[in-house]
Amino acid sequence: MRGAVIHGPRDVRFEERADPKIEKPTDAVIRISATCVCGSDLWPYRGANPIDQPTPIGHEYCGIVEEVGSAVRSVKPGQFVIGSFFASDNTCPHCRAGYQTSCLHRELVVGAQAPRLRVPLADGTLVATREVPPDELVPSLLTLSDVMGTGWFAARAANVRPGATVAVVGDGAVGLLGVLSAKQLGAERIIAMSRHSPRQKLASEFGATDIVTERGDEGVARVKELTKGVGADAVLECVGTQEAMQQAIPHGVQLEGQGLFFAHVRLHGGPAPVRSYLPELIDLAWNRKIDPGKVFDLVLPLSQVAEGYRAMDERRAIKALLRP
Ligand SMILES: [Zn+2]
Repeated sequence: MRGAVIHGPRDVRFEERADPKIEKPTDAVIRISATCVCGSDLWPYRGANPIDQPTPIGHEYCGIVEEVGSAVRSVKPGQFVIGSFFASDNTCPHCRAGYQTSCLHRELVVGAQAPRLRVPLADGTLVATREVPPDELVPSLLTLSDVMGTGWFAARAANVRPGATVAVVGDGAVGLLGVLSAKQLGAERIIAMSRHSPRQKLASEFGATDIVTERGDEGVARVKELTKGVGADAVLECVGTQEAMQQAIPHGVQLEGQGLFFAHVRLHGGPAPVRSYLPELIDLAWNRKIDPGKVFDLVLPLSQVAEGYRAMDERRAIKALLRP
């Protein structure tokens, strides 16, 4: 089969790769219905992480189970499934605590930008929908594999509650879905920090009540002003850079103990345990309560995966969906 392989910075190729097969009795092989380019795929693409050798890439996926190993019990061929970018057994103490991305047996799922994919620990990792979804629902279901689950985790980790005032730092797909998540969790006021008009528009569609275009100290001052000096109850930092993190925590506070202590700040983050949210989010998407698939503003055939990376790198697209 042909799939995406990253060779080096700004060098993603659609080329021949080994066909995935069942390697362990706990594996499944799925036929990908849709996959996409993640903001985190842009880190190696931009040269932030070294690439030692040509490496299959992609970790967001949904599709139809083709084959399962002899030990797999909970999914079967023909079912439509969604899974996390980390495979997990869903039974160890970390999984039971709701942190499947810290599973004692976790394995990265790699190479999803392809027509077929091997998923380890299929029983713990994959969740099947009640039936094969109509095609228009596939983009929203695909987001649950990572980006929507990550926005949801940000909102949950920040303890967004009904009536809350929430600030969202970052207008990438995760930030925009952080807005949607905050809205779904009952936030009354959602301040989206964005300076790009298509993203501001989508943020508003997802429930943002205010848009702040300023960044850094000026952005913090603007949020303070909008909240009459109070600030936000919850801040979702959805970028991952030093600057964004400093913008997310109250003005002047450094990441050191005493500052955090007097600001009553708590930090919670990490790779989102999207597996834990799949049943709930599948339900919300299936019943059209949420439409996270709107973050895909570019749809390409998988063979044009390189253009998907370019468009996101140049910020011409918020997020690229790829169809095998
Ligand atoms: Zn586990």
